[in-house]
Amino acid sequence: MREGCTAVSWICKATHMEGHVPVILTIGSAPVWPCRVKAILIRRIRYASPSMTNGIQSDCANPVPMVDSFGRPVSSLRLSVTQRCDLACDHCHHEGQTPSVNEMTPLEIESLVKVASSLGVRSVKITGGEPLMRDDIVDIIARVSPLVKEVSLTTNGSDLDIRSEELRRAGLARVNVSLHTLDANRYHRLCGVYQSARVLKGIIAAVEAGLNPVKVNMVVFKGENDGEIHEMMDFCSSVRASLQLIEYETDRESLNGGSFAKRFYSLAGTENMLASQSVHVAVNELHRRKRYKIPVKDGFVNVEVVRPMHNTEFCSHCTRLRMSSDGLLKPCLLDQAGHVDVLTPLRSGASDRELRELFLEAVKNRKPYWS
Ligand code: SAM
Repeated sequence: MREGCTAVSWICKATHMEGHVPVILTIGSAPVWPCRVKAILIRRIRYASPSMTNGIQSDCANPVPMVDSFGRPVSSLRLSVTQRCDLACDHCHHEGQTPSVNEMTPLEIESLVKVASSLGVRSVKITGGEPLMRDDIVDIIARVSPLVKEVSLTTNGSDLDIRSEELRRAGLARVNVSLHTLDANRYHRLCGVYQSARVLKGIIAAVEAGLNPVKVNMVVFKGENDGEIHEMMDFCSSVRASLQLIEYETDRESLNGGSFAKRFYSLAGTENMLASQSVHVAVNELHRRKRYKIPVKDGFVNVEVVRPMHNTEFCSHCTRLRMSSDGLLKPCLLDQAGHVDVLTPLRSGASDRELRELFLEAVKNRKPYWS
């Protein structure tokens, strides 16, 4: 099988460099992209406002959607479940969280997602830290998945080779796996450990388990991995994953700082190259991102480009609210203002109605970071 052979050779290369014995895996069926959110739903929530929920009975079956003061509907939740991580990436933004060891229990997460769902949140992306560090991650996914249309996960892939199947059975629909390089030594420099071969196996296991799509997240750094983009496209095509190229991101205060200024690589030129080579372009609803279908050595690969830096268009289409692992609602990754604590009130016995008011307060605090 062509894809299997190619994938195995990638793993052999990486395992050889890390001094491990390679394991041979096969590839499952081709990805089917999930349905896009219907335009009619987007229209409906665009004209709602936060005040609509005052006094209105709202539950998961009859959600009253949230819209911020800039007319942006809030339909997705990025949910951090831990700050613990088994890697030490030299560029990590830690999802904008300040250090905390306080973690929500699966039941608390379920209760808060239920409230979010009653306010029109339709998708949940689970993140961290490293979410697979939580022993109860399967329980968390099983509790959250019935409450929303889609649960996805972003992971460094350390454990995906052994956990993909149980995660999918619990209701996980798709997964993003961080892999910034195929070179074992460069991986070690960027992430602090030698484990890229394990991540490659995890990506293949996720595809095999039927998670769909499996997206490889590659943050691109100037003079480090910017020469690996084509090789990464070939790899993703060979394992039937898609590729998400991400600009190195930071806040305004750190823009001119040594490390960021030195390592930032604008993906504008890359996106132009992809646009000129693509045989098909689709548009992702979140952030109106384009998805390019690119012919590569052995077939095609879908590539998205995430360019948040100084991008007013990116912010103007943002539909996302964030919740930290210690229960703070956060209006934006980069903005440290406007946080609203929902965990302390939940633990003190706040009603769903009171919790809904706190969600609306956080949504009122949302403003485009790049405007
Ligand atoms: N540990 C999980 C992982 O590796 O996917 C989840 C947390 S990680 C913070 C989520 C995503 O953010 C990863 O794809 C990571 O590469 C990306 N990321 C982290 N710091 C970043 C930065 N400064 N700029 C752009 N992306 C970043």
